[in-house]
Amino acid sequence: MAHLRCSAPECGITLELHARALACPRCGDLLEVAIDAVESDPQDLKKLWIERRSSYDRLDASGVWRFREFLPRYDAGQVVTMPEGNVPLIRAQRAAEWAGLRNLWFKHLGWNPTGSFKDLGMTAGMTEAKFAGAGMVACASTGNTAASLAAYAARAGLIARVYLPAGQASANKLAQAIDFGAEVIEIEGSFDDALEILLDSRDPDLYFLNSINPFRIEGQKTAMFELLEQFKWEIPDYVVVPGGNLGNSSAFGKAFKELKSFGLIDRLPRMVIVQAAGANPLARLWRSDSRQFEAVKYPETIATAIRIGNPRSWKKALRAIELTDGMAIDVTDEEIGEAKETIGRDGIGCEPASATTLAGLRKLVAAGIVDRDAVVAAVLTGHALKDTEYIIRSRKKLELRDATGVHG
Ligand SMILES: *Cc1c(COP(=O)(O)O)cnc(C)c1O
Ligand SMILES: [Zn+2]
Repeated sequence: MAHLRCSAPECGITLELHARALACPRCGDLLEVAIDAVESDPQDLKKLWIERRSSYDRLDASGVWRFREFLPRYDAGQVVTMPEGNVPLIRAQRAAEWAGLRNLWFKHLGWNPTGSFKDLGMTAGMTEAKFAGAGMVACASTGNTAASLAAYAARAGLIARVYLPAGQASANKLAQAIDFGAEVIEIEGSFDDALEILLDSRDPDLYFLNSINPFRIEGQKTAMFELLEQFKWEIPDYVVVPGGNLGNSSAFGKAFKELKSFGLIDRLPRMVIVQAAGANPLARLWRSDSRQFEAVKYPETIATAIRIGNPRSWKKALRAIELTDGMAIDVTDEEIGEAKETIGRDGIGCEPASATTLAGLRKLVAAGIVDRDAVVAAVLTGHALKDTEYIIRSRKKLELRDATGVHG
């Protein structure tokens, strides 16, 4: 069984699971799904989850729903799935060397149906939307949430509306949203403005599927169940993740907390959240003595997926790094570009936002904070083909550099 709970520990108000609320009615903080009890023995569960990988059952075949003992329950026929998840853990070669590490692994969540981790959250969020009787679903997005929402809404037979900052989403992501039949509304301003407009609209016909939706978080947390399973439940020293609206890092923190409290693991990996220097409110907060949150008014970075100045889930993410003895740092666009090129040379590729992880690791190893023998999992969040304009533009820059004989 499960219910909704206010995510503020000092509040803790509870609501019925399907209450269709996004904020606590008492204090206004974000809600989360509380899993009350997991009946099975931890060893039996780990065995069962692996066994499901050889099953053709609809739910077993999903890398999200095969962990359903930790998710809200639905009848199998109600679940909207592609399926998603079950993405590999890949040993990095050149990238490891470049960062100065010996044991670096990439968990490539970009290898999901629409090319980003958003699918892991969307299968859960869309299932709940349909269960709640929604006719129309909506999100504000820098591009990937829009693509994922559009695809899953199409599968669910629901109308999709997406709000994008005009001229900021990559053409590839916009193309996906259009291809899957979403109504695209372009907003003058940033992602933060688009999200505010959507939330202020309070349209009762719209079901909201941004990551403030607690069901999205439930789907996304399973990425860490799968990651630890791939490490044979031996806990890596670090898990490194890009930070934008901070839903994903919140979800990972929730996964670690639940796995420990239900006895599946006895120690936590340290979580490192990496932001872009031009959109770094959490990294700033972490560096400051006051630990006061201050939004970045005009977020700027080439990593458009994390070009977010006012992340809604910052409190959840902060609690996650405190829980895991982790940290929040930032990297420049130049560092992101170099890291992205390196991941490409490994034959893996990713979108710019994902490369913050490797850029951050290189900095932390150089500073002596992360040991070169540490076991590190870096989460790649989006596929290389998500932002092809960026790649072509950087090639032109390289050619220009070579032609003028200026080598940096
Ligand atoms: C959404 C997204 C992020 C940021 O995730 P948050 O949950 O908003 O912090 C990072 N990378 C990619 C590719 C994304 O699509
Ligand atoms: Zn509350």
